[in-house]
Amino acid sequence: MFDYQAPSQLLKNKIILVTGAGDGIGKTAAITYAKHGATVILLGRTTKKLEAVYDLIEELKFPQAAIVPLNLDGAAEHDYSELANTIQNEFGRLDGILHNASLLGQRTSLATYDPVLFEQVMRVNVTSQLLINQALLPLLQKAEQSSIIFTSSGAGRQAKANWGAYAISKFATEGMMQLFSSELEKESPNVRANAINPGATRTNMRAAAFPDEDPQTLPTSEDIMPVYLYLMGKDSLTINGQSIDAQ
Ligand code: NDP
Repeated sequence: MFDYQAPSQLLKNKIILVTGAGDGIGKTAAITYAKHGATVILLGRTTKKLEAVYDLIEELKFPQAAIVPLNLDGAAEHDYSELANTIQNEFGRLDGILHNASLLGQRTSLATYDPVLFEQVMRVNVTSQLLINQALLPLLQKAEQSSIIFTSSGAGRQAKANWGAYAISKFATEGMMQLFSSELEKESPNVRANAINPGATRTNMRAAAFPDEDPQTLPTSEDIMPVYLYLMGKDSLTINGQSIDAQ
């Protein structure tokens, strides 16, 4: 596991957007960021799940969260500019984004892959990250130091048969992270971009991808949080353009 012990108030007064915050790793990351002092903006497509995370954060007496219900499949430019306006009006800046939401898509060969699903996976896993960054960059630039974290995968480092659009989307995510990090280095040195490869983690997506696996043999989302904290907080200020394994 990535070795990092975060100070308890590492993210005090930080404003952090987490996509796919209603379930799995995104839910745990949102709660963990709140636990370390951040105000988290919970973005996802299932409002009920976001509300449950919101309530949990309130129950635990962490800083009050905000909810943005948004389906990244079909979200249009005006949805992203509305998101930017809301964050601008509420907070005036943004200290971090965790791009975490993803679709698994089909586990089948490219030769037989459903082209409609292919585009859907690419929209949710890739294009939405571009549009979110484009809309929110001015807010990230207003923060003293800000961090963009993309979510990669082993499937985006070495192609394996039948991982389809998901694998291609993760290769693209690694590329987008590298492009943003090198462009920002020149234009906005206070904004850094990195990626995390969570590794096999006990979530619904993992269970869908590996139905025969015993989930109890896998690390939990909580287990992999050290690198999520490290890359979001001030101890990683000099880290830019890296893709880091959580495990
Ligand atoms: P989950 O399926 O548990 O969670 C994915 C989250 O993304 C859910 O909250 C889901 O919302 C949200 N989401 C999916 N589609 C959309 C959409 N169209 N609009 C908005 N939100 C959406 O997956 P994990 O927690 O396992 O995965 C988190 C990240 O980690 C992903 O990027 C994944 O690729 C990556 N990863 C995971 C690994 C693992 O072993 N778990 C290994 C390697 C990488 P809803 O709950 O409403 O469906």
